[in-house]
Amino acid sequence: MSVFFLEYFYTMQPLYIYNTLTRSKEVFEPINPPYVGLYVCGPTVYSDVHLGNCRTFISFDLIYRYLRHLGYKVRYVRNITDAGHLEGDRDEGDDKFAKKARLEQLEPMEIVQKYTVGFRNIMARFNTVPPSIEPTATGHISEQIEMIKEIMANGFAYEKEGTVYFDVEKYSKDYNYGQLTNRKLEELLEGTRELHGQDEKKGRLDFALWIKAKPETLMQWPSPWGKGFPGWHIECSAMSRKYLGDTFDIHGGGMDLQATHHTNEIAQSKGCYHAEPVKYWMHTNMLTVNGARMSKSAGNGFLPQELFTGNHPLLEKGYSPMAVRFFMMQTHYRSTLDFSNEALQASEKGFERLMQGWRTLQTLEPASTSDENIAAIQEACYAAMNDDFNSPILVAQLFDAVRIINSANDKKLKVTAADIQLLKDLYQHFVFDVLGLATEEESGKTSEALAEVMNMILEMRHKAKLEKNFALSDQIRDQLLAAGIQVKDSKEGSTWKLN
Ligand SMILES: [Zn+2]
Repeated sequence: MSVFFLEYFYTMQPLYIYNTLTRSKEVFEPINPPYVGLYVCGPTVYSDVHLGNCRTFISFDLIYRYLRHLGYKVRYVRNITDAGHLEGDRDEGDDKFAKKARLEQLEPMEIVQKYTVGFRNIMARFNTVPPSIEPTATGHISEQIEMIKEIMANGFAYEKEGTVYFDVEKYSKDYNYGQLTNRKLEELLEGTRELHGQDEKKGRLDFALWIKAKPETLMQWPSPWGKGFPGWHIECSAMSRKYLGDTFDIHGGGMDLQATHHTNEIAQSKGCYHAEPVKYWMHTNMLTVNGARMSKSAGNGFLPQELFTGNHPLLEKGYSPMAVRFFMMQTHYRSTLDFSNEALQASEKGFERLMQGWRTLQTLEPASTSDENIAAIQEACYAAMNDDFNSPILVAQLFDAVRIINSANDKKLKVTAADIQLLKDLYQHFVFDVLGLATEEESGKTSEALAEVMNMILEMRHKAKLEKNFALSDQIRDQLLAAGIQVKDSKEGSTWKLN
């Protein structure tokens, strides 16, 4: 099947990807087809993963899934930053792990373990496919040291008192440092603070590749420059090179990483081996809450767990991980995504309608002729995804399929057995494989539990009726309706469905 899709893709509709590097949509041509190298900057595991990061990883899960669906053999590398991330992006402030370790009175590696496990749990609940490799910064110290040595040998880095800095000014004589954000060196300089007397680095834009450890630093390693720890940016350059090669296909991450982290990654790689490290740079947009940027200080930053349980002042109720995933899929990854109770509730309803469509599809009776062109919907689904992974357009197409399913069920239009099969393929490919919706355990467990609770409630209502307590039986019916569950009474008994 995958060969079919690859051929289909080559002959029918090429895949277009928006490349941050060229600021345009380009036809996706992998360096070594059918292999694709994909690197995404992973979490810094010193606290619970926040929703903005989840959006990035869920977006790249969609991208990973679609590339695989097209038949590509993707090596997906997503790192775990477990050392060397200072609070400021530009080498200032405390080490995030050390600070948290002191706060929670734990070993830094206990912090790392705790939040790595938590992160993987959340990713699993969102039904994301684990990456092929999840390398850690602490597991690749020697690779980072080797890379720093090469950069120094090329003259693009210098050592000061046990700390090694990347020399941006020197690099800028040969290469365009601001290429990713399309900004000139002078503009970038204007945006950074003046150096003070006590600064060791030569230039304002210089950044640390290796940082000298203080005696009390908990995580430190020996190096040619004394004991220390790697800067944050070098780990991604070293690990992407190790697992994907000098130049690979796609590098992704949140938009907030463009200006510093990704800009520095490019400089490090080119400063080391003089080649463009990445062919396509992809960036996901930010997340807002009721129109305002999500942040802890604004009090509108809820965690994924709080979103699932509804345990947050801004949330009217909890939402299942699949409803949240579907909600995210209804916005393109390059647009801002705004969280509000209204939008989440609308998505929850839409998701249930999509799943109800799947259940109805299993009971459709075929006709000898068809009133609809299902193949055209399938083509439109591919067209949407081939246009820079446009999931909201894909979802709109799938709702068109739901409309057909419901009309066929109501005998308002006819579909053949072949079309019913095409509709089933459409669900299998796009709803389950590509959008990654409806994990069996997740929705299965929830619906099993709900079915049991509903049997119990309907039994109690039946008893109330037998005892002629109609006030109670009506009250149960009305309250269920208010909760979104419709009860239908007939001679055979009562049935229920989600509204
Ligand atoms: Zn990175």
